[in-house]
Amino acid sequence: MSDAPLFAAREPIFPKRVSGFYRRLKWWIMGITLGIYYLVPWLRWDRGPALPDQAVLIDLANRRFYFFFIEIWPHEFYFVAGLLIMAGLGLFLFTSALGRVWCGYACPQTVWTDLFLKVERWIEGDRNARVRLWKAPWSLHKWRLRVTKWVIWLLIAMATGGAWVFYFADAPTLLRDLVTFEAAPVAYVTIAILTATTFIFGGFMREQICIYMCPWPRIQGAMMDEGTLTVGYRDWRGEPRGKGNARRRAVAAEVGPALPVRYGAGADADKDTAAPRLSREGEVLGDCIDCMACVNVCPMGIDIREGQQMECITCALCIDACDEVMARIGRPRGLIDYLALDDRPPVLPGEHAPVRPFGNEAPEDQGAATGVPAPTAAARDGLDADATATTPIEGDPAPAPNAAEQPFVTRHSEDWTPTANWRHVLRPRTILYTIVWAAIGAGLLAALYLRPDIELTIAPVRNPTFVTLSDGAVRNTYDIRLRNKHGEPRDFAFSLTSDDDMALMLEGHAGVTVTVPPDATMLQRAYVIAPPETDAAQDERTTIGFTIRDTASGEEAHRETIFNGRGNNAR
Ligand code: SF4
Ligand code: SF4
Repeated sequence: MSDAPLFAAREPIFPKRVSGFYRRLKWWIMGITLGIYYLVPWLRWDRGPALPDQAVLIDLANRRFYFFFIEIWPHEFYFVAGLLIMAGLGLFLFTSALGRVWCGYACPQTVWTDLFLKVERWIEGDRNARVRLWKAPWSLHKWRLRVTKWVIWLLIAMATGGAWVFYFADAPTLLRDLVTFEAAPVAYVTIAILTATTFIFGGFMREQICIYMCPWPRIQGAMMDEGTLTVGYRDWRGEPRGKGNARRRAVAAEVGPALPVRYGAGADADKDTAAPRLSREGEVLGDCIDCMACVNVCPMGIDIREGQQMECITCALCIDACDEVMARIGRPRGLIDYLALDDRPPVLPGEHAPVRPFGNEAPEDQGAATGVPAPTAAARDGLDADATATTPIEGDPAPAPNAAEQPFVTRHSEDWTPTANWRHVLRPRTILYTIVWAAIGAGLLAALYLRPDIELTIAPVRNPTFVTLSDGAVRNTYDIRLRNKHGEPRDFAFSLTSDDDMALMLEGHAGVTVTVPPDATMLQRAYVIAPPETDAAQDERTTIGFTIRDTASGEEAHRETIFNGRGNNAR
């Protein structure tokens, strides 16, 4: 059993600015998600004078959920349950197809941390400047930068907490009440809690939330399989890593083309003829020039070349960083890329298999092969005065004495073509998830459009079950709930369905029509009287039906119930 600690104190991480396709995609997603979050409470939707005009509103006081033209009542909670099931299935679908794509692009922790990092870079500069500032003693300059950053973070955090409460009340009214200190205390408490959590989670805890507090990384691990696309390192192409240089490339041209297996047949095959890079000792190098660009941009502070790790949120920024490096050295993009476990070229018989998926050999093997163990984050950033880029990680075995002679690269079959990405996405598993997801969605849509705008429920009064009147007639009492989902009052006309000629009376009304207020449920007591000679009065139980008709639209609702007669006493 490993005696590794379950918690490690946070080492500061200073992700470097990066540009590229995935960075741009993340900016877009951040803009859209933040825009939705902050602006949606201010959208209006006219539902008539009696109903709120906020497009999205969770009206806890009146137990309603409004979403544009949809209004969910408490008894329709199955819609919310259905949406939650769809959200869960959607996460299954995306995780099995694209790994932790939710974590990397749309999770609030990722989005707000990204936003806070943007502010941090804007105030304190890029990675090197921030590292210098971190190491610098406290001065007026350092205080000024820090306080400016914290104030902006705090404003963002307050806006975040403030936006949340606007989903639960009319936003313009609540804003006015908030600034005039007339809002309910719960609103201030909610804003304070969300402001504090946003400020601390996005500003100071960042990757610690993902690693230690969020259960999702563990759950996702169980949802992924060998066909799932996720961010990985093509070690068979990148190793052995090393610097190489232009002069050595010229020498390498005489050695011949780079091994096609490094890239696989297909994409960028034209660049497969590029000359291999050579190390100082003349050995053929892989495409990784060990520049650490992928590590330096990583918001989680990890090295994807060491294989898939639970810390990796698949934000794909290391792909952008490495693609930029590959472009500079004239190699095909995709040394780090979205790929699946089963994308690896087959290992030749007799060769040792890779220890880690997508990664290089385990750190102890790296050390054995190169004599240079992977650096710690503190060593990389120069934060640990005693650590250097070649300081072994505590607990790692010492490099083997004959390190240079040990085989480093696993040799793979050249007869190999990588699987197209769409094949990883369109698999029986993902298709099944999509079908179930769509079926639930279609069912909810059908239920939404088929649900009536008027409803009634009937509860017979059981104490007593019936009353015998002075003329021998039998009377039953019923409590009837009438629901008017329209935005204006509606008149509902009652009628009774029965084989016998029975009378219907409504408490408090001379006739059989009642007015139900807009968007409301009304409780109405009704009496049904069976004359003494009728079967209903003499039998134990008779089925009768209540019908209500919306006099404006003609829409009807019908329910059946039981009429208890004198035969009931014979028991
Ligand atoms: S290794 Fe880091 S930069 Fe690369 S995808 Fe994972 S979290 Fe993002
Ligand atoms: S960015 Fe690419 S070339 Fe540079 S260290 Fe990372 S994998 Fe190697």
